[in-house]
Amino acid sequence: MDVPLERLRNIGIMAHIDAGKTTTTERVLYYSGKEHRMGEVDNGTATMDYLEEEKRRGITITSAATSFQWRDCLINLIDTPGHVDFTAEVERSLRVLDGAIIVFDAQAGVEAQSETVWRQADRYRVPRLCFVNKMDKAGADFYYSLQTMRERLEARVLPLQMPVGRGEDFRAIIDLIEMKLLTWDESTLGAKYHASEVPGDLLGEAQMRRHEMLDILSNYSEPILAQLLDSIEPSAPEIRSAIRQAALRLEVFPVFCGSALRFKGIQKLLDGVCDYLPSPVEVPPVKGIHPKTEKEIVRAPSPSEPFTALAFKVLADRHGELVFLRIYSGTLKPGQQVLNATRDRRERVQALYQMHAAERIALKEASAGSIVACVGPKWTTTGDTLTDPRHPIVLEKMAFPETVISMAVVVPNSEERDKLIDILSLLEKEDPTFEKRVDDETGEITVSGMGELHLEVIRERLLREYNIAPRLGRPSVNYRESIRSPAEAEWEHNVQIAGRGHYACVRLRLEPIDPAKGLVIENRARDEEIPRAFLPAVEEGIRTGAAAGPLSAYKVIGVKATILGGRSHPTDSSDAAFTMAACRCFSRAMEMGHPVLLEPWMALEVIIPEQYVGDVLTDLSMRRGTIHEVKTAGKLKVIRARVPLSETFGYSTTVRSLSQGRASYSMEPHSYAEVPARIAETLRI
Ligand code: GDP
Repeated sequence: MDVPLERLRNIGIMAHIDAGKTTTTERVLYYSGKEHRMGEVDNGTATMDYLEEEKRRGITITSAATSFQWRDCLINLIDTPGHVDFTAEVERSLRVLDGAIIVFDAQAGVEAQSETVWRQADRYRVPRLCFVNKMDKAGADFYYSLQTMRERLEARVLPLQMPVGRGEDFRAIIDLIEMKLLTWDESTLGAKYHASEVPGDLLGEAQMRRHEMLDILSNYSEPILAQLLDSIEPSAPEIRSAIRQAALRLEVFPVFCGSALRFKGIQKLLDGVCDYLPSPVEVPPVKGIHPKTEKEIVRAPSPSEPFTALAFKVLADRHGELVFLRIYSGTLKPGQQVLNATRDRRERVQALYQMHAAERIALKEASAGSIVACVGPKWTTTGDTLTDPRHPIVLEKMAFPETVISMAVVVPNSEERDKLIDILSLLEKEDPTFEKRVDDETGEITVSGMGELHLEVIRERLLREYNIAPRLGRPSVNYRESIRSPAEAEWEHNVQIAGRGHYACVRLRLEPIDPAKGLVIENRARDEEIPRAFLPAVEEGIRTGAAAGPLSAYKVIGVKATILGGRSHPTDSSDAAFTMAACRCFSRAMEMGHPVLLEPWMALEVIIPEQYVGDVLTDLSMRRGTIHEVKTAGKLKVIRARVPLSETFGYSTTVRSLSQGRASYSMEPHSYAEVPARIAETLRI
C-alpha cells in the first residue's frame, strides 16, 4: 500500500519479558488481516519469532520488521526483544522508531525491564502508548498498574479506558472518549467487537473516570481547559486531537487496557497508534555531519531530499545478509549505488524488500519514512549511514554498551574451527554487543557478550542453525582499568633506524571520568606543536595504549585524555612515530594516575513470595550485593539489588533452589565499580 507520509507509522512494541508482547503482536497481525491463522506463543507458532531458537525459548531475540495496514494508515512494526540481555536490540530499534507501545502485565504493573525500556524511550524522546495487558489474569489490577507507572516511571499517564471486571471476571472495556461499552466476540477470536451504551450501573464510575481524563488533559490543552471552564463537553474528535498533540510532545502517555490472550482491546490500541503516535513528518528532521567537512546537515523527511538511511540491523542467515534500513529522506531503488558514508565505501543495493517476519515482498522503490530491508551491501554493519554519493551525510553513530562477560569456545577439529570463525564473524556483524576474538598465538577463540544467557543463546543458535556444537568454557568477567587521580606525562620518541631518524613528542593529561563514557579524547595542542595532519595518528596511539591497561592488560575506560602539546621534526616525523609516542605516553600517564581495576555490576530484580525473602537477601549479601529496595507487589516481594557480575554466575540455579522454584529474576549490566583490593590481588596476571 502506498500512503502519504502523514499516514505512515513506524512503531515498536516493547515490554518486560512475559508481559505478552508476542501475543499482542500476533493479535495485531491477525486483526489487520496480515495473518490468516492466529499464532500462539505457547505452542511455538508465533510469526514474529521466526528464529528456531526463539520458538524454543518463547522469547523474542531478534528484531524483525513487518508492515500492515490499519484504517487508512500503513504501520511498520519493529519487533523488539523483551529480555534484558538484549537491550542493545531495543536501543537500536528505538533509534529508528517514531513511536512505541509499551505492554505491561496488569498483575505486576511496572517491572524491571519495562522501566529500562521506558528510560531508553525517554532518552530517544519516543512518544508512547501504554497497554495494560492480562486484565483477565488472577490478581490483575488496572489502577495498581497505573500507580506503578506514576511512581516508578514518573510518567504522566492518561487512561483513555475503564476496564469492566478483572481477572476471570474481565468482560468489557469502556471507551471514555466515546462513552461506549465495548465487548468482543470470542467466536471470531475477537475480530468482531460491538459498541453499545454504557449500562446504568457503570455509568457513574465511567463519568467520574472520564472527568479525571479530561482534567489531566486540560493541563496540556488550552481548548479543553477553556471548554471545561465553560462547562462545555468537548466532542470526541476534539478530545482525540488534544490527546494527539500532548502525546506527540511527550506530555501525556495514553493508556489502554485489555487481554491479548482473551482477544480483548487490541483494535482500540491500533486505533490509538493511528490517532496518537507520530508520522515520520511529525518527528524532528534527522541531523548528521558531512563526512569530510564535519559541518552539520539536516535532512527533512521528504522524498525530494537527497537519499539518507540508517542501517539499524544486519541479519545474517545461511542465504546471505539482509540489511534493515530506516530511510530518512530521498528514495531508493534496486540497482542503485549508494555511499556508506560511515566507512567511505560505495555499495550497491541489489534488491529491496518489505518484510513480514521471515517473508519478503520485493519493492520497486522505497522513500522517506519507510523501513525496508535490502540485499547487496557488503561492508555495511549496524549503525552505518547509507547516502546519496553526491550528498554525503553521516548520522550519529549508535552507542552500544561494553560487553561484560567472556567464554572460550572449543571445537574438536580445525575444519570446524574455520567454519566457526566465519559464522562468529557473521554474528558479530549482526549483533554489535557480541564480539569474538581469536588469539594470534594460542589460536584460542573467545566470545563476549552482555550476560550468561546472551552467550548461551548464541551457542544454541550455532547448533540449530549451523549444526556446530562448540563447548563453552567457564564464564569470565570483562574487567576494565581506569585511574583514580589525574596525571600528566610526556614521551619523546627519537630513534634511528637504518640511518633514518624517527621523531615525535607527545604530552598528555589523563583524568578520571564516569566509566560509562569510555575513553574520551580532546585536543588542545597547537598546530605548531603537533601539526594537524598527525592528530589522527596521535589518537590512534592513545586508543592503542587504552586497549591494554597497565595492571592486567584490560581495556581502559573512564578516562579523558587531553592532548596538551608536543613537538615534531620537519623531516623525521611520521604517523608511525606519533602513534608510538602517544601510545607510550598514555601508558606512562596511566601508571602515574593510580590505576585501578573496574568490574561490571549488574542491576538485579528478584520477585519471590515473602517467605523466601530472608534467604535470598542473605545469599545476596554473601555475593557482595547491595540491596536497594524490598517492595510489596500484590502477594509477592520485589527485591532490587546490585551485584558484581563475577558473583552472579549460576545465580539461576541458586535462586531456584532457595525459593523452591518460585522466584523469577532479571539482570542487566548497570555500571562499573572499583574491584576491592583483596579481590584485585587475586586477579593480577
Ligand atoms: P512476551 O515475552 O512479552 O513476548 O510475552 P508472550 O506473548 O510470550 O506471553 C507470555 C505468556 O503470557 C504466555 O504464556 C502467554 O500465553 C501469556 N499471556 C499473554 N497475554 C496474556 C493475557 O492477556 N492474559 C493472560 N492471562 N496471559 C497472557
